[in-house]
Amino acid sequence: MNKEEIIHILETEDENEIRGLFERAAAVRRRVQGDKIFAYGFVYFTTYCRNNCNFCYFRRSNGIERYRKSEEEILALSKALMDSGVDLIDLTMGEDPLYHKENFETVIRIIRELKSMGTSVMISPGVVPDEVIDGFCEAGADIFALYQETHNRELFKRLRKDQSYDERMHAKLYARDRGMYIEEGILSGVGETDSDVADSLLAMGEMGARQVRVMSFVPQEGSPMENFKTPDRMRELKIIALMRIMYPEALIPASLDVDGIAGLRDRINAGANLITSIIPPRSGLMGVAHSVMDVDEGGRTVEEASEILRSMGLRIADHKEFVDFLNLK
Ligand code: SF4
Repeated sequence: MNKEEIIHILETEDENEIRGLFERAAAVRRRVQGDKIFAYGFVYFTTYCRNNCNFCYFRRSNGIERYRKSEEEILALSKALMDSGVDLIDLTMGEDPLYHKENFETVIRIIRELKSMGTSVMISPGVVPDEVIDGFCEAGADIFALYQETHNRELFKRLRKDQSYDERMHAKLYARDRGMYIEEGILSGVGETDSDVADSLLAMGEMGARQVRVMSFVPQEGSPMENFKTPDRMRELKIIALMRIMYPEALIPASLDVDGIAGLRDRINAGANLITSIIPPRSGLMGVAHSVMDVDEGGRTVEEASEILRSMGLRIADHKEFVDFLNLK
């Protein structure tokens, strides 16, 4: 799809055209992977952060309660998620000053240990030096996630206050060049134009992202953008469908973080092929956009998601099926 076609889809309110878009995207997903949907366990192991992103609940200046899980806790939580049937552990951290002051040896050791336990690993560390990325790579991390949020530099400056667009992009491309798959992602509803979204969708292909993502902005208490409105979900769903049609074999998340388990069906119907933000109940772990929604109630589990998928004629893939798909050339 070219830029004009993408913008047209984002603008259209024609119901037939929108229905046709979702049907086409779901058909592409079924053609590529049949009834299989992947599941990622989310281990947000430290909520400390040195940054002050204007859209984020965990920004440095927000006076919230934070946690930092120990190595043993991280491994135990990951094991529980693996036992529940997830295909990958997503190790996510804020840009925790402690790790940046000391080193990332603990994280590298955890990745190595998880790989030896037989799971796939995605690492979402924020911006880190090249030598740390080397360590992640040597430990066997499969995917390196570092969303740009937008590919409009002016908007980036407003969202990610005092951070470098180029350093962020460099880390991602360095990880790719070291042999990891990369994820690129955008936020919807943060002041971007349709033209910005089109540029982002095209940039994702140019950089060779294996996983591509969009998430609707959710206003966060205590942040400078707390009075922004959350966007109509139709925009996120259209972007998911566009990504599926443009990149048939991409990993595209249906995140439980934005609307909880209630938002799963629509995102899968729009063409998403994996579920992210599965969190063990009463684990003390948080989500990002909705830090606690559905977590302790057990709504963000493989079991709950499987039930919904079953009613759609779909199922969670096993780990071997995921690895085969991930390494699809
Ligand atoms: S988005 Fe990430 S880097 Fe920015 S403040 Fe939040 S946790 Fe820190």
